[in-house]
Amino acid sequence: MADRQISQVSDIVNRDFLKELGVRRVINGAGVYTMLCGSLMLPEVVQAIHAMSRVYVRLDELHDAVGARIASLLNCEAALVTSGAFGGLMLGTAACLTRDNAEFIARLPDTTGMKSEVIVQKAHRFPYDHAVRNCGVRLIEVETRAELEAAISTRTAMLLFLNKAEHRGQIKAAEFAQIARIHGVPTLNDAAADVPPVDTLFRLTKMGFDLVALSGGKGLHGPQSAGLLLGRKDLIHAARLNTAPHSDTFGRGLKVSKEEIVAMMVAVERYLDRDHEADWREWEARVGTIRETLRSVPGVTTEQFVPSIANEVPHVRIRWDRKVLPIDAADVVHQLREGEPSIELVPVPYEKDSLEVASWTLQSGEAAILAQRIRETLGGSRSPR
Ligand SMILES: *Cc1c(COP(=O)(O)O)cnc(C)c1O
Repeated sequence: MADRQISQVSDIVNRDFLKELGVRRVINGAGVYTMLCGSLMLPEVVQAIHAMSRVYVRLDELHDAVGARIASLLNCEAALVTSGAFGGLMLGTAACLTRDNAEFIARLPDTTGMKSEVIVQKAHRFPYDHAVRNCGVRLIEVETRAELEAAISTRTAMLLFLNKAEHRGQIKAAEFAQIARIHGVPTLNDAAADVPPVDTLFRLTKMGFDLVALSGGKGLHGPQSAGLLLGRKDLIHAARLNTAPHSDTFGRGLKVSKEEIVAMMVAVERYLDRDHEADWREWEARVGTIRETLRSVPGVTTEQFVPSIANEVPHVRIRWDRKVLPIDAADVVHQLREGEPSIELVPVPYEKDSLEVASWTLQSGEAAILAQRIRETLGGSRSPR
């Protein structure tokens, strides 16, 4: 029996799933995007999944212990491992609506009897606010501080902030949290993709946001289906009452497994322990490899840049003179995608003569392969005259 199990395990290890399924492996020069399955889990995260797969525990007891550990690591009151940042946004909103009221919890997404409005700056509307709308609330859009203060009423359940849109809205993060505090309304900040920098894990709860939602499977390299909800103890408690193991709840489908819960904790521990400067040097080295490979191609110029928030790591921008290299960026992207190996670049709205490449999702040796393919595709593989 034991032998048979071992041989099954090695069969799995040796199986070429992608070949079997006809699914293409991708060289990811785009960054952490859900359509490319986020980031790669660290080996320690996979080991935690494996270790937890062999035991039964009480789900609530595990949530208590892991939540307390993550909260202490991140200097916040309480924490919950959620089903991605999206799950965190749903449960965080539900928590603000129901608090610990059992009738309300059973009633949601029907908000009868509850405060049911969420206020958000117009510039902070984003596709993922569907998570908040899923809870049956009405979103009220405002632009100025005066409009925000006038919109707050007895119907206001929560104020929503999108961290990466801070520069677009008139009300900045600290002021937003402060206004909410003055009016006694809870805040939820979506900072899903905003690690690195590591500081995001601490700064926003400290600034006064009552709840902060983060993705586990982006910069933290945890399970792609996991995330974190950080913040006030009473609200994290209420968030938990709205999901598994509680059956008659709006968030029952946002279950996380014991493996994901512990794996997420390990991801946070490992992330805090990382040498972030060494990571940065490695990413810059990959940028250097790409720039060096393209340096001698006539008509091509490259530069390193760092997006200001979300995917805030070294990238390369590649530009070419279309009089010298008469190819459109969209064609380059298409050829890289359909070629072998398949390559994805940053999905920006392309200008005709430029492309962007992220360095942090490239694996060992891939920067050179990607750069060579771009070089060939641009038509610059011929030796320069
Ligand atoms: C990625 C993302 C989400 C969703 O996060 P998941 O962890 O995939 O659920 C929500 N909001 C923003 C701003 C994001 O970038």
